[in-house]
Amino acid sequence: MQNRGKIVIRGIVQGVGFRPFVYALAEKYDISGWVKNLGSRVEIAAAGARFSDFCREVSKGTVLSTIDAVDVFPLDEEVGPGFVIRSSGEGSLDGMIPPDVAVCDDCIRDIFTPGGRYEGYWATSCVNCGPRYSIIKTLPYDRERTAMDAFPTCTACGAEYTDPACRRHHAQTIACASCGPSLALLRADGTETACADPVAAAAAMLDAGQILAVRGLGGFHLACTEEAAGVLKGRLGRPEQPLAVMVREDAVERYASPTEEDWGALRGRVHPIVVMEKRDPAGNMGISSLHTIGVMLPYTGLHHLLFARLGHDLLVMTSANMPGTPMITGTPDAVARLGGTVDGFLVHNREIVNRCDDSVVRDGHIIRLSRGMAPMR
Ligand SMILES: [Zn+2]
Ligand SMILES: [Zn+2]
Repeated sequence: MQNRGKIVIRGIVQGVGFRPFVYALAEKYDISGWVKNLGSRVEIAAAGARFSDFCREVSKGTVLSTIDAVDVFPLDEEVGPGFVIRSSGEGSLDGMIPPDVAVCDDCIRDIFTPGGRYEGYWATSCVNCGPRYSIIKTLPYDRERTAMDAFPTCTACGAEYTDPACRRHHAQTIACASCGPSLALLRADGTETACADPVAAAAAMLDAGQILAVRGLGGFHLACTEEAAGVLKGRLGRPEQPLAVMVREDAVERYASPTEEDWGALRGRVHPIVVMEKRDPAGNMGISSLHTIGVMLPYTGLHHLLFARLGHDLLVMTSANMPGTPMITGTPDAVARLGGTVDGFLVHNREIVNRCDDSVVRDGHIIRLSRGMAPMR
C-alpha cells in the first residue's frame, strides 16, 4: 500500500483556493509534507498511512479549479512532521491566470452581518471569490504580485490568512475596512466630497436621477436609474443604444422573463450580462427599444451595498467607454474623459491591472467573453 508520494496537479490551480484546500485535506487525513505553487501546477509532497484517500480527494480539486492532469511520482525526500504551505516557486505560467469571480454568498453574508469584521466593507472576498485576473500583475498568484500588494494586511486579516480553519486561509485578496482598498465619492471635476459613507451618498445621488461613473472590478460603468436613462443617452449622443442593467435578484422577473438556463447563467460564478426577453415587450423602452433586455445581478460587495442603500431595484450599468475603444480603468483618465457626462464618480483606490468588460450571454451562448471568463484557455 502506497503511503507516500509527490503529487503534481496541472490546470487552473492558482487563485482558486487550492493550497488551503490541500492543507485542510492533509489535516483531515493526517498527512505530513508540503504544498507549493509553481505557476501552472501545484506540487504536493505527502506521506501518511491514508495517502491514497488524500490523493483521491486532492484530485477532485476546488469548485473554482480546472484540473488537467494529476500525476504521482516517488517522493525522494523526507517530510514532516506536520504539513506546510511553502512559498511559491518559479514555473510555467502559460494560460494560467484565473478569472475574476462574483462575490460568494458567504462573503455577502459577512458584509451584511451587523458588528462583523466585514460589515459594510465593499471589497470583502475569500478563497472562493473576488478579483483575480483584473488585479494580477504576474504569476505565481501571491499578493505581492497583485494590485493588493499596496495594502499590507492588518493584524486581524493576517490572523485569518494563517488560520487553516478560516475561509480566508491563504486568500491573497483578504482585506478589511482598516487595511484594504477604500471608496471615495468625487464630484464631476474630480474633487473629493467629504462623506462618511460614499456608497450611501452615491445611492442618494442615483435615486435623485443623477448619473455616476462607478469604478468596478475591471473598469468603469456609467450608472443611473431607468428614469435617467434618457438623459444618459442624450449626454452620450447615443439615443438608440440598448443599455445593460443591473437588477436585484428578487426583481429580475419584473423586467425580464428568464428561462431556467438564464437563471443558471445569471447566478453562476461569472455573473454575466444575460440577454433575455423582456417581461413586457413594449416596456422599459428608455433602456432598450428592442424586445430583449440585458440583465446582470450585482457581482461585487460594492454592488450589493449600493443596492442595499438604493430606493430603486434596477440600475443602468453600461461600460464607460466609447464604442470601439477599451474600457476606462484609471480614475484620472475617467475624470478627464467622463467629467462632462456624469455628475460624480464612485471610485476605489485599487489598481485595475487588466481591464475587463462584462461578459454577455444569450440563450446559453457567449456573445462577449470577458469578465469571469477571460482569460479563456
Ligand atoms: Zn467569498
Ligand atoms: Zn484587515
